[in-house]
Amino acid sequence: MTFQLPALPTGQVRDVVRAPAPVLSTAAPELDPTSPEAAQLCADLVATMRVSPGCVGLAAPQIGVAARAFCVDVTEHPKTKTCHGLIVLINADVIAASRNEKSREGCMSVPDFTGDVKRANRVTVAGLLPVTGERIEIVTDAFEARALQHEIDHCAGLLFLDRVAGAHAVFPRKVYQDPRG
Ligand SMILES: [Zn+2]
Repeated sequence: MTFQLPALPTGQVRDVVRAPAPVLSTAAPELDPTSPEAAQLCADLVATMRVSPGCVGLAAPQIGVAARAFCVDVTEHPKTKTCHGLIVLINADVIAASRNEKSREGCMSVPDFTGDVKRANRVTVAGLLPVTGERIEIVTDAFEARALQHEIDHCAGLLFLDRVAGAHAVFPRKVYQDPRG
């Protein structure tokens, strides 16, 4: 499914919250996608993602806002297969998932570590677009599927550290330019 992302207001770059901030481990409430606050929040998420090296996605709790909203853009990442460009979704859920696969993951809110996380390699994600509130479904795979699951986890109060198999699957991060969400 292709979709047209509605125009957003000018975004402000926000500070990224780091673990163990409580907002990162709390399931966020649903958001009214048609509210001006939702449009501004989404714009701020995109602006903050764009200025952060290696950032392929950002969720509202990561800028300190308890709300189910995130952006993802995996364009140009070498592990990307299917790509929808800039995605901004509100109240999103994974509605179908298959083919679990383990891969290394990083996070803006866990700057000093990466981890091996098992996630579905193919997913269907349903969510609402900001401004219009239109419900869309995104069918994707590989790195984009992983990034979407990582951000949906943030909205549920989960970090990749909650998904690793154990301490043996956590590694010190050496390069901040590596992809992270
Ligand atoms: Zn993250």
